[in-house]
Amino acid sequence: LFIKHAQHEKFETMSHVAASLAHEVRNPLTAVKGFLKLIRENPENRVKMEQYITISLEEIQRTETILSDYLSISKPHAQRRELIDLCGQMQAIGEVMSPFANMHNVGLEIQKPEEAVRIKANPDEIKQVLLNFIKNAVEACSEVPNGRVILRLTTEDRHAVLTIKDNGVGMSESQINRLGSIYFSTKTNGTGLGLTYSYQVIHALGGSVMVTSKAQVGTKFAILLPLGSVES
Ligand code: ADP
Ligand code: MG
Repeated sequence: LFIKHAQHEKFETMSHVAASLAHEVRNPLTAVKGFLKLIRENPENRVKMEQYITISLEEIQRTETILSDYLSISKPHAQRRELIDLCGQMQAIGEVMSPFANMHNVGLEIQKPEEAVRIKANPDEIKQVLLNFIKNAVEACSEVPNGRVILRLTTEDRHAVLTIKDNGVGMSESQINRLGSIYFSTKTNGTGLGLTYSYQVIHALGGSVMVTSKAQVGTKFAILLPLGSVES
């Protein structure tokens, strides 16, 4: 009986996820469809056509983002863990995220120690988690002048401490309380899945997340992850 109940719940969650995915993908698709029709109706207006194509490409980009968010939560957590150096991961993530930060006129700074900081984790999952936090921080700064995001790595008490600090829009207390809940998003184009996924990965590694934030001032996330050793 218990198993039946669990399966039923799982099925409900699945249909919920399917409905929400369909809903989110339909919006940009409808937009692209509309713009393609407009292009067909106004083939002589080059300026308008360029605009329609630009918007359509943005909408397609949006569907790609939505799909990759959903894909990441659909994957079971990787069992394959290895000893990885977070300094190297930060270097890589800095290179990946710099163009995104530039595009939003946000400065991205990386502060890491000279020596390696090793944790036992799946490198792809850690990369995705860092990406999600940095992406949110950059997005939070996109409307403020002199937007700045600092990604910092230190160690403390047998833990790696990753902080992501921004001087963006910040959050209210009720928003802070909802962080990590599935579908919680304050963005028009948000899926509300990035932190859900990230919190799951961090908790599965025995880590934790702390957040301090103030509306109109900025946000600081601190991710604590147990240090790994060669023996463990
Ligand atoms: P999404 O980015 O798709 O909205 P996330 O799960 O990544 O979903 O984030 C959920 C919500 O948490 C965001 O919509 C935003 O309201 C809030 N949030 C997360 N990070 C920050 C941040 N650095 N500054 C302000 N708000 C944030
Ligand atoms: Mg996000």
